[in-house]
Amino acid sequence: TKYILVSGGVVSGIGKGVIASSTGLLLKTAGLKVTAIKIDPYMNIDAGTMRPTEHGEVYVLNDGGEVDLDLGNYERYLDVTLSKDNNITTGKIYREVIEKERRGEYLGRTVQIVPHITNAIQDWIERVSKIPVDDTDDEPDVCIVELGGTVGDIESAPFVEAMRQFQFRVGHENFALIHVSLVPDMHGEQKTKPTQTTVHALRGLGLLPDLIACRLLLPQPLEPATKAKISMFCHVSTEQVFGVHDVSSVYHVPLLLQSQGIVEFLRKRLNLASLNITLGMV
Ligand code: ADP
Repeated sequence: TKYILVSGGVVSGIGKGVIASSTGLLLKTAGLKVTAIKIDPYMNIDAGTMRPTEHGEVYVLNDGGEVDLDLGNYERYLDVTLSKDNNITTGKIYREVIEKERRGEYLGRTVQIVPHITNAIQDWIERVSKIPVDDTDDEPDVCIVELGGTVGDIESAPFVEAMRQFQFRVGHENFALIHVSLVPDMHGEQKTKPTQTTVHALRGLGLLPDLIACRLLLPQPLEPATKAKISMFCHVSTEQVFGVHDVSSVYHVPLLLQSQGIVEFLRKRLNLASLNITLGMV
């Protein structure tokens, strides 16, 4: 299985979910089987007990799981059926580790965030990524993992550390990272500093972005000069900097990513040819 982690910086709600689903849709269109996992770094076991005004609409899965609406995006974009285990929360991970501790399965050792919580997160992702999500019984080729919240939060820290370890567990050629950042427009000038800061924080935590998706909250596309600046200051090539401006419908986001060569990039980066599937043109 190939894993694509989608993380976010600067502010929440910048369109990580839409970028993650769109990437999945493009890979599915190229002929791959795609599944998705959403990580919500809160202590609630699930969204079922959360006020809709607090959390937004709760999405109900076929198995009765009450989850984040992003799972609904994945089911619609990818035409798959997900289970409640495709939504990981801090609450679920802690519950699993604490129950294991009560059963004595840690054999008297001290139970800690590193390695026990971080291992539980990695084991969970590996297990769920292999569950078939369509009516064939095939294991998915690609698993999109969307990390909710923003990198640098206390809440997401155990997940960030788990993913840092995970890239070595599965190997470089099986793990890519898309980091979504905000490029604010100040009186017509596209500002790169928030992106520099969040990419710096990400690297400090041991995660290197393969793609930086720059979200602009206006209909104007990312300017070439802004792209060049982000490339230089964030130590990536310009091909690794994507612009995602405001579009009239979120269903245009896949086209926006495709026009910037995301499938080609991932094909090389993740050596998708090794999956022995004839990849179609998108
Ligand atoms: P996050 O996962 O970062 O919280 P979402 O993907 O849920 O963010 O997107 C937040 C909101 O922004 C949604 O209502 C979505 O429809 C909207 N949105 C996301 N990307 C775009 C875009 N490129 N153009 C217009 N609206 C967008």
